[in-house]
Amino acid sequence: MASTDPTRLDGQAALVTGASSGIGRASAMALAGVGARVAVNYRGSPEQADEVVGEIEKAGGRAIAVQADVSKEDEVLAMFAEAEDKLGPLDVVVSNAGIQKDAKIGEMSLDDWNAVIAVNLTGAFLVGREAIRRFRAKGRRPDVSRALGKLIFDSSVHQLVPWAFHVNYAASKGGIHLLMRSLAQEVAEEGIRVNSVAPGAIATAINAEERQDNADDIKTLIPYGRIGDPEDIGRIVAWLASDAADYIVGQTIFADGGMSLYPGFRGNG
Ligand code: NAD
Repeated sequence: MASTDPTRLDGQAALVTGASSGIGRASAMALAGVGARVAVNYRGSPEQADEVVGEIEKAGGRAIAVQADVSKEDEVLAMFAEAEDKLGPLDVVVSNAGIQKDAKIGEMSLDDWNAVIAVNLTGAFLVGREAIRRFRAKGRRPDVSRALGKLIFDSSVHQLVPWAFHVNYAASKGGIHLLMRSLAQEVAEEGIRVNSVAPGAIATAINAEERQDNADDIKTLIPYGRIGDPEDIGRIVAWLASDAADYIVGQTIFADGGMSLYPGFRGNG
């Protein structure tokens, strides 16, 4: 059951939204890698989710695929019910699903605004609210973790760094920033740790086009000189979920190669 190694998640169950690709996939793999049973949420691609489940099982772990659109309340509730039914009470929930619909402000449609807010921010609310309800219902399990539950949001450097032509996305991540901190303040006394990870530029499908067109420009924004891999974020998610990070409450861990250092201000600015 529980390990004496505080970085392990043996005996714990985790749910990761948007886990059939990119950062969510890497987070699911990393959580399974330290012993968690993992529910791999996907919206529309069961083959990709099954592939993630297969990879986890091949490595000796336990995982299931669960379909749900995180912007729909009934689907989120059903996703949690199915995950707990199959894996047992959840100890870790990672709200990762996200989309971009970029446009200049004069050309941004209300549909594009609403779609991004619905998935990135309302989805985070729906998933976070149900995670907290489920942690409360489960009760403390000090044999597996010091915390009652661990809720992690996938935010972005753009909760801090403005992003022209992406105002819907930046607004959604700015919203996650205070959703996370306010929730953390509300539930910390119950033993629930709420935190975020804020990636910089990570090589995934969400930015494949931008990377193809502007890879060199993007690198000038990263003092550390490389675009991140999904695994760079997955490892942080697994650590944040573990008792090794037990005293981290209401924080955003920026994992961005220094992007949020505003490298344009080196020298004379
Ligand atoms: P991705 O496109 O590979 O992953 C996004 C996932 O979310 C996909 O699996 C997609 O199917 C899923 N998804 C989209 N809408 C959904 C919905 N309504 N319900 C359920 N799932 C849904 O891209 P990614 O980069 O891995 O993105 C994951 C998260 O990381 C997002 O929240 C994104 O904003 C954030 N992020 C990414 C970067 C980056 O550079 N890649 C940087 C900062 C933050």
